[in-house]
Amino acid sequence: MLQIDIITLFPEMFDGPFSASIIGRAVESRLISIDLHQLRDFAHDRHRTVDDEPFGGGPGMVLKAEPLLDAVEHVEKLHSGLKPHTVLLSPQGKTLTHSKVAELSEMANLLLVCGHYEGVDQRFIDAAVDEEISIGDYVLTGGELPAMVLVDAVSRLIPGVLGDEQSAELDSFAPGLDGLLQGPVYTRPAEINGQRVPDELLSGDHTRLERWRREQAVRSTRERRPELLEDWPQ
Ligand code: SAM
Repeated sequence: MLQIDIITLFPEMFDGPFSASIIGRAVESRLISIDLHQLRDFAHDRHRTVDDEPFGGGPGMVLKAEPLLDAVEHVEKLHSGLKPHTVLLSPQGKTLTHSKVAELSEMANLLLVCGHYEGVDQRFIDAAVDEEISIGDYVLTGGELPAMVLVDAVSRLIPGVLGDEQSAELDSFAPGLDGLLQGPVYTRPAEINGQRVPDELLSGDHTRLERWRREQAVRSTRERRPELLEDWPQ
């Protein structure tokens, strides 16, 4: 089971995504366990202040280091002093990729920290964060949506979470496709307004079908993401 703790100012944002569909079922069947921690519970004053103006001036507010450090300590205590792998969601982090997702899915304890406002006091990052992860080169209002993206991607690689074990293995970027994009997929009917499903998919010939899928994956990757073919074992 993967234990995921999330420190956030907006735990209510996670209700829908973590209770519905595949992730909801994974939580119910205890393949993953997700605990949300309200950062304000670790504020040091009666106004529950967790942010302050940046030193040196500039726009926005910065999340204070002490409540974040206390929240991390609290999570460690909950897990008998075991230090979880601590990730800060940040646009300045390394971009999330399939191989990073696979690496995180092998861990036993993950702690995700959601930033907000202008960002997080650097001293918290230096003292408590193992790595910073971005979900892409753009800026969101907070780390909650990135944390949901990360949890979703990681969870579906945990054995038993997807109904059909093979489907993650043959998805885009996965080792089953050597990191290529998956090609097109079709369902019934075999023809719509003159558009026919490719013959290979209807032939019942497994070898022909696999060859076609492979060719389509290479074609799709060459057209859309040619840089992925650079490391590809031709
Ligand atoms: N001032 C920061 C900067 O320029 O790098 C951006 C802060 S952003 C408005 C607030 C928070 O949203 C960040 O601390 C981070 O937790 C989260 N965030 C925003 N964009 C993100 C992204 N692309 N990936 C991961 N987290 C992101």
